[in-house]
Amino acid sequence: MKTALEWKKYYSSPEFREQYLYDKNDLGVSCTDSGTSFKLWSPSADSVTLNLYQEGSGGSACRSIAMERGPHGVWQWSTSRKLHGVYYDFLLSIEGETVRSADPWAKACGVNGRRSMAVDLRETDPEGWETDRAPVNMPEQIIYELHVKEFSWDPSCGFPEKYRGKYKAFTCEDTTLYNDGVHPTGLRYLKDLGITHVQIMPSYDYGSVDEEGRPDEFNWGYDPVNYNVPEGSYSTDPAHGEVRIREMKEMIQSLHARGFRVIMDVVYNHTYSLDSWFQRTAPWYFYRVFDDGRVSNGSACGNDVASEREMCASYILESVLYWAEEYHIDGFRFDLMGLLDVDLMNRIRKALDDRYGRGEKMMFGEPWAADETAMEGNAVPALKKNIGLLDENIGMFCDDTRDAVKGSALKIWKPGFINGASGKEDAIARSVEAWCRKDPEEQAGVKAPSQVITYVSAHDNQTLWDKLAETLPGTDEAERMRLNRMAAALYMTCQGTLFFLSGEEFGRTKNGLEDSYNAPIRINRIDWEKAWKNRDLVEYYKGLIALRSHLPGLCDKSEQAPGRIREISKQEGAVSFLVDNSAPSGKTAWETLKIVYNSTREEQTVPVEGERWVVLCDGEDSGLWKEPHYVKGKAVVYPQSVLILGKLSRAS
Ligand code: CA
Repeated sequence: MKTALEWKKYYSSPEFREQYLYDKNDLGVSCTDSGTSFKLWSPSADSVTLNLYQEGSGGSACRSIAMERGPHGVWQWSTSRKLHGVYYDFLLSIEGETVRSADPWAKACGVNGRRSMAVDLRETDPEGWETDRAPVNMPEQIIYELHVKEFSWDPSCGFPEKYRGKYKAFTCEDTTLYNDGVHPTGLRYLKDLGITHVQIMPSYDYGSVDEEGRPDEFNWGYDPVNYNVPEGSYSTDPAHGEVRIREMKEMIQSLHARGFRVIMDVVYNHTYSLDSWFQRTAPWYFYRVFDDGRVSNGSACGNDVASEREMCASYILESVLYWAEEYHIDGFRFDLMGLLDVDLMNRIRKALDDRYGRGEKMMFGEPWAADETAMEGNAVPALKKNIGLLDENIGMFCDDTRDAVKGSALKIWKPGFINGASGKEDAIARSVEAWCRKDPEEQAGVKAPSQVITYVSAHDNQTLWDKLAETLPGTDEAERMRLNRMAAALYMTCQGTLFFLSGEEFGRTKNGLEDSYNAPIRINRIDWEKAWKNRDLVEYYKGLIALRSHLPGLCDKSEQAPGRIREISKQEGAVSFLVDNSAPSGKTAWETLKIVYNSTREEQTVPVEGERWVVLCDGEDSGLWKEPHYVKGKAVVYPQSVLILGKLSRAS
């Protein structure tokens, strides 16, 4: 067998590129009433046998078929029979070695994804699927990061036992705390909260949870096995390949029907194991290798997918389009986007725009990598420093805002602006403008707030509540609540798209744990009882979220948006500014906003010049804007709080 470097050299040769690149998007299985065809790209195989099975695991093949080698290294076999529900894998002979593989292009699979399944996708559509549509976009996108299993695992949520931890939980209406019929949990709770987008953590088929194992097995799922198949452990029957597909569609359909758009967390930067279907069917084609032969590991998960290679780029592009088309996914969050290349990200953006309209499907990602990667040729990584090379509708998680507000996510003892660090005022002022106003030396900075995800908590690192506890030992719960409210009011008055980890709004804790990817479900699960106990904090988030949609000056995602921020004033522990809150429609309740962040423990007084100023939100109550009272001359800002004032428009 060739070494990794020898393979790499071969794949980079002009002869290989001329002969073997395949530009049609019909790889995998197509299964309809008129027949079934199998196509596998494996340019180096000397022979490929297709094995068909009745079951998704165990037993022996009921039929073995020698596939025919066609042009461009594509092996094929077709039949006029409809083989819906038939499982399959391949036996390949490559350089004298025989290897079994499932289909990298599979759209369905058996339990644990070890065998693929032929599927007529129309048979997996839930009733009414053809009329399923995403709800219209609201003035602001507010993304709620949620794990399928965490959502419905805790018995307090009141879901039917059989749906706990499953896609199906998202189809349950009107669940209440311990079924008390009074306190909403689940979807109704999310609706009341006012978020617009549910971001589901990885839900393609991943490898770290045994789908036949204990029901309480848990993992975040950043370990892809089958990119184009839903994860089986979230389905009620992982052994029958069509069930997980239908149930995931039902989840999306139900979320759409209740007014939520659905974002999927996608992990194209690495696979669960280097011994993947990619590797078994095209050795080393899909992975990066350093010139000294070391396997690239910028993901810190053992391998890096080579997004810059033509067939790999097509694979990722087609996979994204497939989820958008077949599952009606409304947006994509790219894990370790810094390991993918700028060209590919822009290609995906353009393909989605061409099909669905400009910016209609969201795209954003983590603009970093865990370590150095062996990206080839002239490819440019989609890192933060290259944000200016990405389309203006590709966003990045803004770690600068996150860390300025509450302190470094990685250095857990370090506080930020709200919890006692000094010298953060400049960073906070830049956070307000979503880091769009460039320093003269900066080359390709952020183009517009459309490129920035403004947030302070995500599944990685400590929860906001735990971070506050870590950085403020000895403080009481009242102070932490105050600071949690301040954090929320602060980032929700910054430009950019808003994002938060599920439960941030009720002081979610993981007992200080920074990386809970495989921690027990009892640590990771959403604690609905706590959501009720801390309902005052939830109410504060609710008020802020609702208010945000009335603040066009902050929702503006255009290049002109930062120009709306005026008269920024900074002093130790305090930042204030005005916002031009005019709306394109001309309709706005408040023509100007005055926003003050006071992170000191002292009450502050700020001047308020002119007439018609009202209080929209203070450190205690984010619902004041519903019945605003006037202020004149000066306004009081409570210790450790945010004050939002609005100047009534003349027309109103
Ligand atoms: Ca799985």
